[in-house]
Amino acid sequence: MAYYMRTASEEVRRRAELSRKEAEGYIERELRCPVCDFIVGVAYSDSSGHLKIKCQKCKNISVLNFAYFCRRKYKQRYRLTKINS
Ligand SMILES: [Zn+2]
Repeated sequence: MAYYMRTASEEVRRRAELSRKEAEGYIERELRCPVCDFIVGVAYSDSSGHLKIKCQKCKNISVLNFAYFCRRKYKQRYRLTKINS
């Protein structure tokens, strides 16, 4: 039986490279599984909307809203600066 492996077209690879270059200036933040806290991905500072993820560790499928994660990070950073200053 022949093994068939799909390859992305040249246009798709060009778009992926363009996306990588655009993201270089953005801040990264880890996306963690809400059940086991395992890192399930990385989001950039311009990310918005919802994302459906499957945790590789506990296999739980979750929907994450980027806006909630932004706010939580902001509050944590704000509290830290207030304590330190
Ligand atoms: Zn998990």
